[in-house]
Amino acid sequence: MKKTTEIDFSQLKKDISKYIKNKKKIQLIEKVYLFAKEKHHGVQRLTGEDYIHHPLHVANILITINADAETIAAAILHDVLEDTDTEANELKENFGEEITELVVSLTKINKLNFRLESQAANANYRKIIVGLSKDVRVIIIKLADRLHNMRTLWVLPEKQQKETAKETLDILIPIAHRLGINQIKSELEDLSLRYLKPDVYFSIVETLNKTKKDRDIAVEEMMLNVSELLRKHQIKNKVKGRAKSIFSIYQKLDKGREFRDIYDLMALRIFVDTESDCYQALGIIHSKYRPIPKRFKDFIAMPKTNMYQSLHTTVFGDKGNVFEIQIRTYKMDEVAEKGIASHWGYKEGGSKLQSTLEEKLQFYRSIIELKTSNVDDDDFVSSVKQDVFDETIYVFTPKGDVIELPNGATPIDFAYKVHSQVGEKMVSAIVNNNIVPLDYQLKNQDIIKVNTNPNSLGPSREWINMVKTAQAKNKIKAFFAKADKEKYYENGEELLSKELRTQKVTNQSFFADENISQVLKHYKLTNLEELYIAIGSKKISVKEVVARDYLDSNKKEEVVFKKITNEDQVKNVSRNEIIVEGMDDLKVNIAKCCQPIFGDEIIGYITKGHGITVHRLNCPNSNNCKERTVDVRWNKQEDKKYLTNLIIYANHDQNLLLDIMAKTANFDLHVKHFNDLEKKDDYVFEIVLLVSEKTALDKFIQSLENIKEIDRVERVIR
Ligand code: MN
Repeated sequence: MKKTTEIDFSQLKKDISKYIKNKKKIQLIEKVYLFAKEKHHGVQRLTGEDYIHHPLHVANILITINADAETIAAAILHDVLEDTDTEANELKENFGEEITELVVSLTKINKLNFRLESQAANANYRKIIVGLSKDVRVIIIKLADRLHNMRTLWVLPEKQQKETAKETLDILIPIAHRLGINQIKSELEDLSLRYLKPDVYFSIVETLNKTKKDRDIAVEEMMLNVSELLRKHQIKNKVKGRAKSIFSIYQKLDKGREFRDIYDLMALRIFVDTESDCYQALGIIHSKYRPIPKRFKDFIAMPKTNMYQSLHTTVFGDKGNVFEIQIRTYKMDEVAEKGIASHWGYKEGGSKLQSTLEEKLQFYRSIIELKTSNVDDDDFVSSVKQDVFDETIYVFTPKGDVIELPNGATPIDFAYKVHSQVGEKMVSAIVNNNIVPLDYQLKNQDIIKVNTNPNSLGPSREWINMVKTAQAKNKIKAFFAKADKEKYYENGEELLSKELRTQKVTNQSFFADENISQVLKHYKLTNLEELYIAIGSKKISVKEVVARDYLDSNKKEEVVFKKITNEDQVKNVSRNEIIVEGMDDLKVNIAKCCQPIFGDEIIGYITKGHGITVHRLNCPNSNNCKERTVDVRWNKQEDKKYLTNLIIYANHDQNLLLDIMAKTANFDLHVKHFNDLEKKDDYVFEIVLLVSEKTALDKFIQSLENIKEIDRVERVIR
């Protein structure tokens, strides 16, 4: 079977001229047509007609939604880059930047393959969304292109028919729905069903045909009665019978409704001049025809999130037939059928359409928000998929604003959707006048009031598992990332300044530009703030940061090794002072970095050629290479004294030295050196002691800490 549906450009031109009055633009479209016709010359589609008829049909579909001249021009050119030898530059020279950009973007989108699984498909979703946010006209052309391809899908083999129909149902119909272009959406739905489930489709068509005559008579009669009734009440109106789409019947059957119930439903659409006429008409109809309870919906006061407005009601008509009635103004009808496409600004290029998209469509606002916030690719895609492609519920604010959320969303999602401040300060939620737990699953039509407390400290970490929208999830995560960052920053600042004192490095030398830039470079950080955060979160060791010698070498282990074997770092101990498990006759040294004393928990570190060095167990210098450690323990020696260093942090230095010296007299220890370290906000001293064992040292430290002017005392590990 071959059918050709050739289309005549002169007819197209006439139709465009009905709403585009600028002669130059019409001429441009004609020029574009001749160019494309030449480029596609000699090529036929599978349907048997010259190729140029496909782009002309696409243009024709766009004319029915009153597309602007640039969009129509781009539609006529939409396949020249992909299917002919035309280059983008050639388009630019002939037809300018705007049209070329549309064609180039569309060509990119056409190359995407959504049938791929997971990641590749995700990348493609992202591209189509980015395209949408750049210039929505590209997507509108894509929808028209797909519609014509679906109309001629019969020409392809069954496997391809099904693939294309599925992609249409999964991707393009949801987009058409979001954009409110019902006219295209509805036809795409019927065509998808026809190829995906031909048996269902044709059985519905057949049943519709069988009952058509009876229905037509009943509808015709009701139309006349209603129209006359309204006229009697001085309401100018037009009433049309409305065929229910095959797809919408299929959906109702799919939800378990009886065939008969659906066919009995007949549909009317009433057009009036003003919004108040809509409500008056409704009242008049309800006073004559009994409405079915709960079937009334006011989408005028509360428009759908894709801008759709109408009053819906279902009434018992004459002879007991049930009628679905929609009441709307002509302007509302335009928006209901064309959605975003009812907002072309014919002078402003795509910008008016784009700004309407941003102002009026909720899903689009979430996308913009996502684009500007810092989310990774996967989160971006899953969030957008949720916003565009998933099933949604519609809930209300107490003022009656409609908020669109994915199925399974909670009051927390709602709060974050309203405003991130509302989310962060939320303390409880009331749904339909009842307090609900925060993980309550919202249902269609719920009215939600969020209670906030300005003193709330912010969200709870558990919320991350309670929310459904990526938007709320990202905001909560960001909140905690920021809080952690502040904590880490403070922590890092403190750790660093302490370590500088411990290692006796002056602020001046550490914070010298040369040094800091070397440190940042080594840790691949960009500024001091990041350095503090890295230290504070223990991602990097503050000791290493301050001990700059470690930094230059990649061979860290070797450096550590060198340091430990350095003669300066160790002090020989007499035999038997320390017992090395399982080994005799080894040279044993005491590490200078941590200066263990009798009673400390210790560990031996096997050095190359220098025997064993004994470190305190908590000394990081011995932790670098576990394979080189060996168990050791103290062997009590009479009268043996050990050298160790303390750092004293004080808030005052008045007579402190005297106080400290006085304390030493009470304990069995000698002070060898007393150094006044660099002072900044507080007073820091280093004291070098000879002490016999740990208990004595601990007592001494405690007694120092009892001195009012002393904040704390630490043993040194370098
Ligand atoms: Mn095409």
